[in-house]
Amino acid sequence: MKAVWRDRLKLQNYISGLFIEPDSREWMDDYSPATGEIIGQVPKSQKSDVDRAVKAAKDALPYWSSLTNIERADWLDKIADNLESKYEDIAHLESKDTGKPISLAREVDAHRSVKNFRFFGEMIRNLEEESFGMEDANNRVIYKPVGVGALITPWNLPLYLLSWKVAPAIGMGNTVICKPSELTPLTADLLMKSVDEVGLPKGVINLIHGDGMGAGAPLVSHEDVDLVSFTGGTSTGANVAQSAAVSFKKLSLELGGKNASIIFDDCDLEKTVPGVVRSGFLNQGQVCLCGSRILVQENVYDKFVDRFVNEVENMKIGDPSNEDTKLGALISPEHLSKVEEYIQIAKDEGGTILTGGYPCLPKEFENGNWIAPTVIADLDVSSRCSIEEIFGPVVTIHKFVNEEEAIKIANNTRYGLAGSIWTTDLEKGNRVAESIHTGMIWINTWLHRDLRVPFGGVKDSGVGREGGRWSLGFFSETMNICTKYD
Ligand code: NDP
Repeated sequence: MKAVWRDRLKLQNYISGLFIEPDSREWMDDYSPATGEIIGQVPKSQKSDVDRAVKAAKDALPYWSSLTNIERADWLDKIADNLESKYEDIAHLESKDTGKPISLAREVDAHRSVKNFRFFGEMIRNLEEESFGMEDANNRVIYKPVGVGALITPWNLPLYLLSWKVAPAIGMGNTVICKPSELTPLTADLLMKSVDEVGLPKGVINLIHGDGMGAGAPLVSHEDVDLVSFTGGTSTGANVAQSAAVSFKKLSLELGGKNASIIFDDCDLEKTVPGVVRSGFLNQGQVCLCGSRILVQENVYDKFVDRFVNEVENMKIGDPSNEDTKLGALISPEHLSKVEEYIQIAKDEGGTILTGGYPCLPKEFENGNWIAPTVIADLDVSSRCSIEEIFGPVVTIHKFVNEEEAIKIANNTRYGLAGSIWTTDLEKGNRVAESIHTGMIWINTWLHRDLRVPFGGVKDSGVGREGGRWSLGFFSETMNICTKYD
């Protein structure tokens, strides 16, 4: 498998069942976050490429939307089977492109990408019409496709998030144009190869590579695009929302987070410490759900912090292709600079760095984007590092006295995506959970995902919900047909 990236990959767009060059005939370099080497070339697409992809999706819509749910579910299964046969390729490409450890790419990215297609295939196959009887009439609620969808995804979980959108979107009869992050294009290309190999009708799934302004913006504003599902940063989300609103496109926004992990003094420390380390640093802290603010009740503060820092320092950082590596590289030099700036801000704001700094790595990684996991204490709960999304391996730790204070600190941010609560008192856990202004909370666990449940945030973390029937609802228009009896 390693041979795949020995030769640089020169990627193409995928439009109407064909791999084609961008009109500009220009490509951007795709870099390995771990070593800084160029591993691929990404088409620099522009509006004319977007226009062609949207036309292909529009042309494919009448036939695709005429299929039954069962026929479309069969297609999702075929894609899942094909992706499953490429399981190791997905893991290796994703690890190479994002800098994440291979074990994580296998366990999370490859696994979930296949599962997303299977899960939505199964749901759509079993989807039933609802009906509401009246004394003299019957109401039938049916689900119709929305039309042409723009699916825009970020770099942290590339195929995981793309497949999370593609599967329910085409399953409900829409046709789509995918726009992955220019930083991590490799597995989107692999998905197009799968789609091509299974012989999915042309134009149902199209792919436009390119940057946000050149390819993403014209896609969102395109008059023939009917829905936009966007996952990414909050400020980009605001631009996308503004552009989509002009033509009333159906819109779902999954944006940033600054999630609190709340540790009560009655928690089971043996389970809590590894759970909170995982939630703080999975994927180098580059998961929107990561618990980057750790709130610890005063009685257990010292004990927790000692064990936590010790466990963080024991995480193995280094070569993402090593099976026992736990922490890889950050996505880009620009992102590394942003994370370093935040660490400097924390120092300026009076924070104490309990652990962190540059890791010492072999020479082959000297051009990569590396930073050791960083734990910061003694910051005010309203300091910038405590309330802004850093999206890296950096957590802040704060002390609280009681439930009320923990809730107040947890809600003290413009974000509202997720969080976790660690306690043996489940009544208290649920009571506190209900007071936190987020879309999701875990109690005594983190990122324990059931694909049937709603996923999404409040405040600056997004608009709408995806997941399970919420995805099916978003990717369809519900219609009521009321028939009066004689
Ligand atoms: P960005 O917002 O920078 O980019 C997301 C996607 O949007 C990329 O494909 C990007 O293209 C594209 N894009 C950029 N500008 C525009 C535009 N004007 N119109 C249309 N598309 C555009 O996010 P990142 O890629 O940096 O991802 C990190 C962010 O994603 C974090 O804030 C994280 O919290 C959030 N996220 C949220 C999740 C959730 O479910 N709530 C899950 C995962 C991440 P390109 O990169 O090629 O320029």
